[in-house]
Amino acid sequence: MLDRIRVVLVNTSHPGNIGGAARAMKNMGLSRLVLVQPEEFPSGEANARASGATDILEAAQVVETLEEALVGCSLVLGTSARDRRIPWPLLDPRECAQHSLEHVELGGEVALVFGREYAGLTNEELQRCQFHVHIPSDPEFSSLNLATAVQVLSYEVRMAWLAQQGRPTKMAKLETTAMLDSVPVTSDDLELYYGHLEQTLIDIGFLDPEKPRHLMSRLRRLYGRSGISKLEMNILRGILTETQKAARGESHKRRDD
Ligand code: SAH
Repeated sequence: MLDRIRVVLVNTSHPGNIGGAARAMKNMGLSRLVLVQPEEFPSGEANARASGATDILEAAQVVETLEEALVGCSLVLGTSARDRRIPWPLLDPRECAQHSLEHVELGGEVALVFGREYAGLTNEELQRCQFHVHIPSDPEFSSLNLATAVQVLSYEVRMAWLAQQGRPTKMAKLETTAMLDSVPVTSDDLELYYGHLEQTLIDIGFLDPEKPRHLMSRLRRLYGRSGISKLEMNILRGILTETQKAARGESHKRRDD
């Protein structure tokens, strides 16, 4: 699906930016790169900046004109760092990604077009695009590095694609997995725990049964917020048991004794 979204770089001067763009694309799962009259390509510098994305450079299509680069595309989006005199339908990168994916889902091909490092896209080139995309940078310093601009749009395309596919945007971290694996505590276990906690607090002189001052309800509220697992409850029960022993003056017994 993402292979129907191509990145078109027009007349790029620095081969390092071509490599950087290839890397940004590959990181985000995009693969089709089209180069319109690059000043220097193929190039060692492009390969170096691409890091492990040299396959994208090797498969890149090099063409003479923007028209050739856009063959087969039914949606063309041109990026620009500046406001143009001619008003044109404008999208931000998120809207651009959304539009692109909707278009691809209908069976279309999409081009994201990027301009020259020094001069951007010409007005004629921009007028070949149905929409203009502007990354909302600081107006005082609005122009991003070319490869960085490719990164921003590719990232938004990936986020929209992940959402569309119903895939997670977060890696399952170890703690999260451990928490999900653990069995949640039942309310009867919790009740036993509260009984144990209350007795312990009385034993150590923290809770006066004559004047409880809502202590237990406040503690219930606190524990209720924390989503305790069975394993965590066992730890807390263990702490209470040891606390009671210590209060009775029994010698402390280490877990690994
Ligand atoms: N001096 C040029 C800057 C070009 S930067 C100009 O004023 O247009 C090179 C390319 O990176 C641009 O042509 C565009 O494709 C992309 N780019 C840089 N900053 C951008 C921004 N804020 N929004 C959208 N695209 C941007």
